Amino acid sequence: MNDTMTVRNVRDAFRARTRSAAETCRDALARIERLDPQLHAFNTIVADRALARAESIDRHFDRWRHAPLAGVPVALKDNLCTRGLRTTASSRILERFVPPYDATVVARLETAGAVIVGKTNCDEFAMGSSNENSAFGPTRNPWAVDRTPGGSSGGSAAAVAAGMAPLALGSDTGGSVRQPACLCGVVGLKPTYGRVSRYGLIAFGSSLDQIGPMTRSVGDAATVLAVIAGEDPADATSAPEPVPDYASALEQGGGDIRGSRIGVPWSLLDQGVDADVRRAIDAALQVLRARGATLVNVDLPHAKHAIAVYYLVATAEASSNLARYDGVRYGYRADCTELRAMYAKTRAQGFGPEVKRRIMLGTYVLSAGYYDAYYLKAQQVRTLILRDYEHAFGGPHAVDVIAMPTSPTAAFRLGERVSDPLQMYLADIFTVSANLAGLPAISVPCGFTADQLPVGLQLTGRRFDEATLLRVADAYERDTAWWTQHPPIARR
Ligand code: GLN
Repeated sequence: MNDTMTVRNVRDAFRARTRSAAETCRDALARIERLDPQLHAFNTIVADRALARAESIDRHFDRWRHAPLAGVPVALKDNLCTRGLRTTASSRILERFVPPYDATVVARLETAGAVIVGKTNCDEFAMGSSNENSAFGPTRNPWAVDRTPGGSSGGSAAAVAAGMAPLALGSDTGGSVRQPACLCGVVGLKPTYGRVSRYGLIAFGSSLDQIGPMTRSVGDAATVLAVIAGEDPADATSAPEPVPDYASALEQGGGDIRGSRIGVPWSLLDQGVDADVRRAIDAALQVLRARGATLVNVDLPHAKHAIAVYYLVATAEASSNLARYDGVRYGYRADCTELRAMYAKTRAQGFGPEVKRRIMLGTYVLSAGYYDAYYLKAQQVRTLILRDYEHAFGGPHAVDVIAMPTSPTAAFRLGERVSDPLQMYLADIFTVSANLAGLPAISVPCGFTADQLPVGLQLTGRRFDEATLLRVADAYERDTAWWTQHPPIARR
């Protein structure tokens, strides 16, 4: 696959008959074969299935010619259920789990003409920020293979960054689409809670989880969002909001953001942000200003509690969601003759250490006597965090989007933070608020550190206003070339 292959290039080349779906697919598979032994972005690769489907799309050209993702190779995070195709959530407990149904997003991608090339590595049950919690070993960052790609959707981010697929899906409970996108130099979008159906996504924190696209360009993210978004009877939390034609709106908009108001929580940027990251963010804000946007200071006074609140709410929900892995109905079952011992052994052997830590934390904060002090309090502060955003997005000084870094540092070294969970949790400082508040947020490449590691700018928008978010991100992208850069490993 050509390094500059984007979702739209692939689709347009298919339409113009300058490149068949099978040719594109073969290129992607060759790239995977060459690079994945070094990167380990994939848990499962489905070369034959992908090629057969691409050939079938070519054979029925007229049927697929107008499909928005015709012939586009897609890598799916391994916590998205795929019918007949192993879905592990990078956990031993689901190592041999083959779902009997497709996630709604998977069905929608295929209806739009996408070709699944494989399932990507991630932190176990999407719990982590570095991919090191995968039961199958970590993914490596294509920009520096001794570093993390981020997490939990690290395999998806690495796959897109290394040109193994122009599109991947990830899930984002506290930053897992945006942070790895940032650390690997690609675009990652977490939609508004309820924008995209969660049916068939292996649940982690059900009030926080969203599925989102990871792509090279903002335009690609817009194209894919329009395909996967929308109400789904199988997910009662999916919203009946109309889904705009995001990509056409970007084209018509022409990158015009004159008069837009961009909020910047300056006081948050003063602590803990790496100097190289800070420089890149400051420069990015100047690009937006030069395009005619106004920068406005915003206060998010409760943001400092976001990590604490997130790790109470997310673990509480996880402890409840993961109760279903009991060895009885599906997944791994330990060999045991007595029922209670079977539960205990199955879970002791099936779950990794971080998942166990979260189940214990979550069970603790929900238990009688602690519920009020931890879980209930966290929910109250969650409301205060949401109000901060509502205040910034409404009222007399309302802003259209809020800008900040996606991650306070660039990719850190594998092994550097594994023994210090708190340090690892702090990687999520800028991302968890959007999940707690249910707001859409995007990470776009905005520069490099002195070590040639990618930096990402995060924009957060109003509820269900992905259109404005994409418009500002697209305007930024038009004036910068960061997104066109490729890691050395993928250049050839
Ligand atoms: N890094 C965060 C965590 O460990 C977020 C994970 C996610 O978004 N799935 O929970």
